[in-house]
Amino acid sequence: MPAPLLYANDSPGQYPKSWYAATAQALPPFPQLRGEQQADVCIIGAGFTGLSAALHLAQAGYKVVVLDAQRVGWGASGRNGGQVGSGQRQDQDELEQQYGKTQARALWDLALDAVTLVKTLIAEHQIKCDLQSGIIHADHRKRLVAHTRAYVTKLQRDYQYADIRFLDQHEIRHQVGSSAYFGGSLDLGAAHLHPLNYALGLARAAADAGALIYEQSAVQTYNKASPARITTQHGSINAQQVILACNGYLDGLDPKLAARIMPINNFIVATRPMSAVEQQSIIRARHAVADSKFVVNYFRFSSDQRLLFGGGENYSFQFPTDIKRFVQPHMLKIFPQLADIELDYGWGGTLAITRSRMPCFMRLAPNVFSAAGYSGHGVAMATLAGKLMAEVVGGTTANFDVMSQLKTPTFPGGALLRWPLLVLAMTYYSMRDRL
Ligand SMILES: Cc1cc2nc3c(=O)[nH]c(=O)nc-3n(C[C@H](O)[C@H](O)[C@H](O)COP(=O)(O)OP(=O)(O)OC[C@H]3O[C@@H](n4cnc5c(N)ncnc54)[C@H](O)[C@@H]3O)c2cc1C
Repeated sequence: MPAPLLYANDSPGQYPKSWYAATAQALPPFPQLRGEQQADVCIIGAGFTGLSAALHLAQAGYKVVVLDAQRVGWGASGRNGGQVGSGQRQDQDELEQQYGKTQARALWDLALDAVTLVKTLIAEHQIKCDLQSGIIHADHRKRLVAHTRAYVTKLQRDYQYADIRFLDQHEIRHQVGSSAYFGGSLDLGAAHLHPLNYALGLARAAADAGALIYEQSAVQTYNKASPARITTQHGSINAQQVILACNGYLDGLDPKLAARIMPINNFIVATRPMSAVEQQSIIRARHAVADSKFVVNYFRFSSDQRLLFGGGENYSFQFPTDIKRFVQPHMLKIFPQLADIELDYGWGGTLAITRSRMPCFMRLAPNVFSAAGYSGHGVAMATLAGKLMAEVVGGTTANFDVMSQLKTPTFPGGALLRWPLLVLAMTYYSMRDRL
């Protein structure tokens, strides 16, 4: 049974009414799967994970079928903040402590590969998705600034990462027009982009390479036989290998895996276009910004000069009925000067987190692979995950194994009861943002 979240907040087969969808370089719809087909690899889910896997596998000569319940890039991939962050979701201090320096280094290197992969795919396939460099990480508490300064020095010294620099209070307030921040860092190796156009570009490239893509083809059942059988309402696939790329919508498809992943909803608004002067008073140099709150605020300017501001999340099946009103207080806490600005768009998306906040890469059977749970850090990592799963299908496991060896424990309560427990925990942590 497909996850209820696939249908709870959107009309079937329609992209949400986001600024991204309004400015998408839309592709003609792909057909719905009808009848029975054979494939070397069946990929379930057409976000960054599934599309990158499809592209790499099709380029390597495999017969690939991609099935999406809705449209390509319809999930988190077409709705997110567009920030292509460097590093893993956990910082290197944490990773060194948990896994030792050698593995932490391997994880850092893979994360850099992920960012390079995104930039390379965009260049190779001429994907028009407004790629721009620079992410500012902004500290919302004075007490965090010393750690940020030390961490920047560590990345420069121990990881030879020269693209990052520390910003003191004076500099961050010059870069970001808010008194909410006390310091931070500027990472010019990181980037930001129009995520739906990036996903659509990947879909076009995968289709051009020979992948068969089907939309509005929700997978109802799959098994781990050889060949595996995957069924939708109107069709079925027999495939030698299966890749699950369903991220926040895994519930119902594989309960064992779903117990390691928790879907949460996060929301974004787009203001009216602003003048150059207004924009510079908010973000000086068109970098993206993400702050240090547990429920992160993230924002940047769009190619048509709107502030895209992400803030606020919820942990239920339903999005709030008025998303603009839900996000606005988060925006005004950072930019009270925007109290009167019109909000032209508001939309939500479902992402997946893990308990460790590191992604969950799994080999569920000798011929079934999954990657999910990027915990809000998936633009680059999901793209890489697709490539690493394509490598595993081809018999090269080294890089996939670096990720699959990470501990991603199940949420307490298992697939059924994990939700109420998560709500309690997240509410507690988000309250700490106010302290
Ligand atoms: C509001 C928001 C802001 C975010 N901001 C950022 C950011 O700035 N930077 C960053 O790095 N990350 C961010 N993320 C996270 C990032 O978007 C995700 O990690 C990434 O897009 C995951 O890609 P994916 O392909 O694994 O999943 P998705 O893009 O969610 O794709 C999953 C696909 O699987 C399909 N599917 C599910 N079940 C089935 C089924 N049974 N049958 C067929 N198809 C199925 C769905 O229709 C969907 O298209 C954000 C996420 C959200 C929601």
